[in-house]
Amino acid sequence: MLKINDIRVQYQNTLALKGVSLTVEEGEIVTLLGANGAGKSSLLRAISGLVVPKSGEILFLGRRINGLPTHEIVALGIAHVPEGRHVYPQMSVRENLEMGAYNCRDKKEIEKRFEEVFLHFPRLKERCNQLAGTLSGGEQQMVAMGRGLMAKPKIFLLDEPSLGLAPLVVKEIGNIIVDINKRGTTVLLVEQNARMALQLSHRGYVLETGNVALEGLSKDLLGNEHVIKAYLGG
Ligand code: ATP
Repeated sequence: MLKINDIRVQYQNTLALKGVSLTVEEGEIVTLLGANGAGKSSLLRAISGLVVPKSGEILFLGRRINGLPTHEIVALGIAHVPEGRHVYPQMSVRENLEMGAYNCRDKKEIEKRFEEVFLHFPRLKERCNQLAGTLSGGEQQMVAMGRGLMAKPKIFLLDEPSLGLAPLVVKEIGNIIVDINKRGTTVLLVEQNARMALQLSHRGYVLETGNVALEGLSKDLLGNEHVIKAYLGG
């Protein structure tokens, strides 16, 4: 579904990605691990057109997408939930979610998408009219993910969905990611919570200073000595 060939991303003097290749097959959850600054967010930004790679190519369903504007990339079926949630605090939950369906004019279809989102996040249905800025961190993460789902993506790019959340909420978000995948959406997940990410994903890549250091089945990475030492707390 998604094939990244040897991409390099540069910001002024920093080469954030130094030639990264990666694939995501339809139906998979693929996780991307790495320390702070390894280049994980840069990879997601390159896929969704927020930065243009200096070289290499990104193919989505066989079509080269690097260089396309973000709204065209979204229309092809790629939704990106960035790190930090970025909900609109002065808008209601419903209005925030509706923003995700900006490319759809069909009211019935939009209502269908709301129902799908509420299936995963029943709490958002209860809080439809609440201002998003007054929600808890976990609920705001749900709004950010729900907004992404409102675009009806084929692939969902999730950047650190568990960041700053309490362990029980992290577990809940993890279960929801699995459910979203089971209902047919492919997922590329960036996480610092390596154990959770490897437990719920099919395959994983480890990025270190802009390069892929390791890749494999998640169950194998969970048992890999380097991964255990560097990412699973020994
Ligand atoms: P984190 O887990 O801390 O979010 P990351 O693995 O997602 O880290 P990136 O955010 O992709 O890493 O950053 C990779 C490198 O690129 C870092 O050295 C960072 O300082 C640099 N970088 C990222 N964004 C910019 C920018 N807009 N301008 C300049 N340098 C940047």
